Amino acid sequence: MTAYDDGNIFAKIIKGEIPSEKLYEDQAAVAIMDIMPQTKGHCLVIPKAPSRNLLDASDETLATVMPIVAKLARAAKSAMNADGVRIAQFNEATAGQTVFHLHFHILPMFDGIPLGQHGEASGDKAAIAEQAEKIRKALVAA
Ligand code: AMP
Repeated sequence: MTAYDDGNIFAKIIKGEIPSEKLYEDQAAVAIMDIMPQTKGHCLVIPKAPSRNLLDASDETLATVMPIVAKLARAAKSAMNADGVRIAQFNEATAGQTVFHLHFHILPMFDGIPLGQHGEASGDKAAIAEQAEKIRKALVAA
């Protein structure tokens, strides 16, 4: 498998070199809004430990990040009044991966509304910021 390259965009977000709509951060992971949302409240949980994807991630990274994925899934579902929540994670380009630093998609789902296409279009910045604020509040309330 190709080696991890720390020039990827999520490594830069973790280092604070480029801006993001941040929802949560601790020593192990950061959660941000996705800039090309497939649904209302689409966000990403990104472990800080460097790995390309699930295939080269350590068990420790995976064990640490899953409770954070669950925390964000609960907060995003409640903040968006969603009917369900999907978790997605892609490994290598053939499987749909476009950013080569491990991350988990949190996708609130609404009855009768299909997901938008993956990576199709940039979202409205103001709407994303509004959704982010609601998710941050739900995290505090949890
Ligand atoms: P994938 O690697 O295919 O699992 O998905 C990468 C995701 O990252 C896509 O949904 C993109 O919309 C999203 N994305 C790419 N660049 C940024 C960024 N600078 N900030 C937030 N999300 C991003």
